[in-house]
Amino acid sequence: MVNVMSLEGIHVDVHADAAALPPCPDAPLPSDCCGSGCSPCVHDLYQKDLEDWKQLCRNLRDGSVICDSFSNDTIGSARHIFPHKYTAFQLISIEKITTDSYLYSFKIDNNGSLNLKVGQHIISQLIRDDGKPISRQYTPVSEMDAVGRFEVIIKLYENGRMSQLIKKWKVGDMILWRGPFGTFSYSRNTCKRIILVGAGTGIAPLYQVIRFVLSDGDDETQMNLMYASRSFSEIILRNELLDLTNYWNFFMCHYLSNESNRLGKKYRENVEFRKITKDDVKNEIQKSCLVGTKLLICGTKSFNKDMINCSRDLDLLESQVFTF
Ligand SMILES: Cc1cc2nc3c(=O)[nH]c(=O)nc-3n(C[C@H](O)[C@H](O)[C@H](O)COP(=O)(O)OP(=O)(O)OC[C@H]3O[C@@H](n4cnc5c(N)ncnc54)[C@H](O)[C@@H]3O)c2cc1C
Repeated sequence: MVNVMSLEGIHVDVHADAAALPPCPDAPLPSDCCGSGCSPCVHDLYQKDLEDWKQLCRNLRDGSVICDSFSNDTIGSARHIFPHKYTAFQLISIEKITTDSYLYSFKIDNNGSLNLKVGQHIISQLIRDDGKPISRQYTPVSEMDAVGRFEVIIKLYENGRMSQLIKKWKVGDMILWRGPFGTFSYSRNTCKRIILVGAGTGIAPLYQVIRFVLSDGDDETQMNLMYASRSFSEIILRNELLDLTNYWNFFMCHYLSNESNRLGKKYRENVEFRKITKDDVKNEIQKSCLVGTKLLICGTKSFNKDMINCSRDLDLLESQVFTF
């Protein structure tokens, strides 16, 4: 028997063409959508993948594309994590790194990689006690080409809805993730200087960018990080950032808004015992030519708004400013 599948004008002889056609993307399950307005929603992503798949089938049938075999990559999905459907990853370790933040490591089967691009994040979905799904975004801090595992740093909020569920995670649990997402793009030496302004867990995408630039010996971009935390004990990735200041092109200053121990500073650390002000950011930006400077921002909503206003006061172009 020959199965014929009809998709809006595409007639696919499944029996005859099975080996020659890419797999149709899987539709998300009703439980994959948490109904809380994620951007992008699993259903939008599925529609996009389905359109891409239909187009590919059309091209194959009219001969404008010739392919011997297909993997999921052919229709735009990453190998181990997918934007429109959740995949379960095993939690393999939990490490407390500040008073309220933890480093969670997950196993990627078959020594696989998430294949993230710099600055991208992923979304986790958990099920609340009332049976309803809840999802939140997190930015991996592991190397983007790390194989076999990925890591996220998550700050747990006392009354946070997701935080309450994450607190219950145990090593061995299988946790749902989808992604990657994010529109940030970067190419080496496309600007002379990057000012990175972050607060709290907002360090995660900024850290990705810093390591990405520093790992490229041919990239001569200079980076200045202004990082706001409440106190020494709440600084995320403190030692890692200090190590990176050994590079000729990376400079940073911690801004601590609620620290009484002025002696807690480590050798070679720059620390200001106050909040970051708009003037701090303006002064830093104006230290070199505005053309060729980029401003990257990641913090709370109000923090981001203040920093964007700074950039407007200095007439930075929209293309020079990116908010994660
Ligand atoms: C693109 C993106 C990447 C992110 N990456 C990370 C990451 O790597 N690590 C991480 O820990 N979080 C990250 N977040 C934030 C994360 O998605 C959640 O918002 C956070 O974990 C709080 O969720 P919750 O349900 O526990 O708290 P909610 O129930 O949503 O909020 C509880 C309380 O905490 C406050 N709150 C919530 N989020 C923040 C915040 N970010 N800063 C200050 N106050 C806040 C709220 O105002 C509220 O009072 C990211 C967010 C985005 C948009």
